[in-house]
Amino acid sequence: MDVCVESESVVYTPATEAMLEGIALAEEAEESDRGSTENSCAGHNPADSAHAKTPQPEPATAKNPWSAWAWLGLCKAPARKIPNIVHVDVDAFFASVEQVLNPRLRGKPVLVGRGCVASASYEAKALGVKTAMGFREALRVCPKAIVVPGQYEHYADFAERVRRILETYTPAVETAALDDFYLDFAGTERLYPDYRGTLVRLQMEVFKETGLSVSLGAARTKVVASIASRLERPRGFRMVAPGDEEAFLTPLPVAKLHGIGHVHTSTLAERGITTIGQLRRVPKAALQAAFGEAIGLQIWERARGLDGREVLLPSTPKSVSRETTIEGGTIDTEFLGGLIEYLSERIGSTLREYGKQARTLGLRLRYVDYFSAHQAVRLIKPTNDERELLSAAKEMFGKLFTRRVAVRLAGVSVTNLEADRRQNDLFDTRANRRWYLNREMDRVRGRFGWNAVFYGKGLALREHYATKPNGLVLSTPCLSR
Ligand SMILES: [Mg+2]
Repeated sequence: MDVCVESESVVYTPATEAMLEGIALAEEAEESDRGSTENSCAGHNPADSAHAKTPQPEPATAKNPWSAWAWLGLCKAPARKIPNIVHVDVDAFFASVEQVLNPRLRGKPVLVGRGCVASASYEAKALGVKTAMGFREALRVCPKAIVVPGQYEHYADFAERVRRILETYTPAVETAALDDFYLDFAGTERLYPDYRGTLVRLQMEVFKETGLSVSLGAARTKVVASIASRLERPRGFRMVAPGDEEAFLTPLPVAKLHGIGHVHTSTLAERGITTIGQLRRVPKAALQAAFGEAIGLQIWERARGLDGREVLLPSTPKSVSRETTIEGGTIDTEFLGGLIEYLSERIGSTLREYGKQARTLGLRLRYVDYFSAHQAVRLIKPTNDERELLSAAKEMFGKLFTRRVAVRLAGVSVTNLEADRRQNDLFDTRANRRWYLNREMDRVRGRFGWNAVFYGKGLALREHYATKPNGLVLSTPCLSR
């Protein structure tokens, strides 16, 4: 690309000047076109029309909630625009979890990883340690640092606990990475009249419940929200009001933009483009010529705070299955019964989490000689109560476990899921009590981890398996979450 940018002004070499002039004219025409359409719709100052996100003037009813029309409810005031996309990022995630788990590490420089730094506590970062630094260099920079190898199963549990707290504020929570979440608060304006206060409360609640500090950024798009959350870590909090995106981005370095890597940053720096404000002056066609059609367009859009990505919701499952292998196999029916009970409990909890009930339950056993047995049964009524699931599973186990051969794999699954529309049963008071019990069990486990509470029969199983905050460490943990 023959584009040179010197400080604030853009200078093009003669070879491309003519071409870029044409492009710039086309861009201007495009912008003024867009401006005139916006003007005709909104009817406000033409100077503002170049900004796609210019705030619209509020109608009289919104300004005056005491007007007769507002009182009569005849004029519905449009909900005010909020920076609805919220990016939540746990600060120094692995190192912070280590400090929560081991109080002796608190307030000290902690490095997590093997070979290179996967995560460094803020005490270590303050002394110059950076993520992905080799341990030799990190210990040279910070000789007092305490190195821990990392307990990845704990990190997954903590991430899950944070996600559960976020879900109590809005159902639209996307897990972008282990400690990285996008939330969408669109449509919650009436639910949370004090939006800023709500976000502050969310940040404090995560800290109170998990001991982890999070940084939070709110904006109209994912790209701006993620930059906002990363600006003032740790415990960062930044809201970018709708319409302020460009002003917010202008002074920031180009490298802050999501999707712009080291290579792009240095290519732009060679041409004197270091801030997002400078980048915004480069025409779209010039960026596409330098970085390719798709990347060029993406950079052009992101520099304006535009981002078409929506918060992705986790899809609801069509079936749930939990299974695990048993090392060496076993014919101990007590042990197998306990395992099936545990798997049924996990399925019941997952069903309730998704607000589902199951109509069909299946049980699968595989013996050490690879003979496999499977059976499914239609339940009398749809349920997500683990006791009901368990009694059906145990009945099937009696039918399926007919050979005197050790069992190597046990699995429980449910299909034919439907929405949980259960109402209190007038005559079956036992079912009602179970429903309340399950609800409270879920609540306690959500707050203190799976092992905080379990049925007496689960005790024997805990002698076989190691425990972690979110359950037992089974042989195939990925299948038996
Ligand atoms: Mg993080």
